[in-house]
Amino acid sequence: MSSENPVSQTNPRKRPITEVDEPTTLFCTVVAIDHTNLYYRVCSVCEKTLPEATHKNATINSCSSSASLPICRYCNFKNAFNPGSSGSKRLFKVLMSIATDTKVFVVVMFDRAARVLFGCSADEFFDFAKIHPFAATTAGKVLEGEMLRVMLSKPKNGNAQHLRVASVVPLQSSFQPAIVTLRKLYQVRGGS
Ligand SMILES: [Zn+2]
Repeated sequence: MSSENPVSQTNPRKRPITEVDEPTTLFCTVVAIDHTNLYYRVCSVCEKTLPEATHKNATINSCSSSASLPICRYCNFKNAFNPGSSGSKRLFKVLMSIATDTKVFVVVMFDRAARVLFGCSADEFFDFAKIHPFAATTAGKVLEGEMLRVMLSKPKNGNAQHLRVASVVPLQSSFQPAIVTLRKLYQVRGGS
């Protein structure tokens, strides 16, 4: 009766999912998305992560506006002529709770995977959210319950606490990227 269970293929040492070395593919449902922090800033030249402006730095901007701007330490790209826009760009970094058939846990989704669910770049979404302040909240809501096939990989950075989503495939044929749903929702009020 139990003969069709080839144990030889599975790893004899049963390790928890957080210690897998190779990417794991699993089916899951989106439980929640942390919509309060969807992006991080990178240098627009070399795409290295820029330090976030802290509370301290953010209040300095009265005397010299460039003081609060993150400056890339790697290529030292100084953005004196056009502060605030072209020196950095946003990439998605999204924390997402997913449920498998056995448990619920948090994974981190970086730009390439997040674009699949959001349907646009992080900068596009940020601009959209500037006009529609609840866009991020709504995006989280519309993605809740989506069934996904995700490939999870162990973070290369030993300090990272979450498995990262290497790739994501929405499974429902009715799936629409969040930005598509949002544009439809907000279009009711006119496109001006
Ligand atoms: Zn740079």
